[in-house]
Amino acid sequence: MRIARIEAWWVRVPIERKNQHRSDFGQIATFDAAIVRVETECGIVGWGEGKNAAGSAGEYAALVHLINREVAPVLIGRDPREPGVIWEALYNGVRHRTAASAGHAMPQLARRGHTLAAISAIDIALWDILGKHLGAPVWRLLGGRKADKLPAYASGGWAGVDTIGDQLSSYVEKGGFRAVKMRVGALDGPPHVSAARVSAARAALGPGIDIMVDAHGTFNVGDAKRFAALVADQDVAWFEEPVIADDKRGMAEIRAACSIPIAAGESEATRFAFRDLAVLRAADIFQPDLGYCGGISEGWKIAAIASSFNLRLAPHLWAGAPCFFAGLHLCAASPASFIIEYSLGANPMIHDLVEETISVQDGMIDVPDRPGLGFTISEDYVRKHAVD
Ligand SMILES: [Mg+2]
Repeated sequence: MRIARIEAWWVRVPIERKNQHRSDFGQIATFDAAIVRVETECGIVGWGEGKNAAGSAGEYAALVHLINREVAPVLIGRDPREPGVIWEALYNGVRHRTAASAGHAMPQLARRGHTLAAISAIDIALWDILGKHLGAPVWRLLGGRKADKLPAYASGGWAGVDTIGDQLSSYVEKGGFRAVKMRVGALDGPPHVSAARVSAARAALGPGIDIMVDAHGTFNVGDAKRFAALVADQDVAWFEEPVIADDKRGMAEIRAACSIPIAAGESEATRFAFRDLAVLRAADIFQPDLGYCGGISEGWKIAAIASSFNLRLAPHLWAGAPCFFAGLHLCAASPASFIIEYSLGANPMIHDLVEETISVQDGMIDVPDRPGLGFTISEDYVRKHAVD
């Protein structure tokens, strides 16, 4: 089996004004991603997704160019059934054979960022192909699924102090969620404003619903500690990205100083970055984004690090369908997973990009058992929303 064709598009889907939300990332008026299609000579097609922007909107011209003009030519003619070997070849670049025989990595200079987003997109598509070729869902290739449904949490929560309770309660009513996540940090200004919103959320939801908070890395260490102290009696289930990913020691300091579990990792790429998070004791919950951290191949290694450090895994799944399904399969197979992120913001890149209906009922989401990643992309939709 050989790779015959690779094509990536910057897909940009506008979001209707009434469905937009505003956060520290600004007004979210589009949902963007790099969507990649890998076709084999025998006609099997796999789909992947690469990310390079926080929030739903972003510019993807450079990433798509990288995939189409630099990565694709290297892979045409290769056997697609070797996602792990291809991952190492792309990561190590011209020294990949030396690295393979030496038994350790020798990455190229640009070893993070767009390079890893491109590798992620290809890797997800190759796992999709491998599963379709073998007639098996990807979770089976990873060792099996621990359940046929997994609990999901509702991810949203941008409303102000007067309406946050209603907003989060509507999530609980809509999908039967037992856990919800709200945004805090820079969109509120000082820590006491975020803390008041969390208290209002807890008052509305009562004690039986888990509340997680996500600061998108917008506090500094001192303000993160102030915030954590102010919500110490609100039973917060996790505090996500209290500070930027480049301040791992600061994150470790916050973790040591507060009683709330720390979640982090959507801005990290590769097993090496997550090893550092674990060794520095900076996080309780790893949140790799499979469209950015290195795809399923790397996500599986990151999941193993989480498990071996007695930490947990909750991938960042604010994404399009290929990335979302990749995370679903990873969680189905990983001993460290426990909950699935389900975005309650407008997400056409999940709901309109694929033919399947993806929904949460009684707070649970189905793990698909179709071959590969288990979704069917609407190619017309991709082409209709592709940016020239
Ligand atoms: Mg987040």
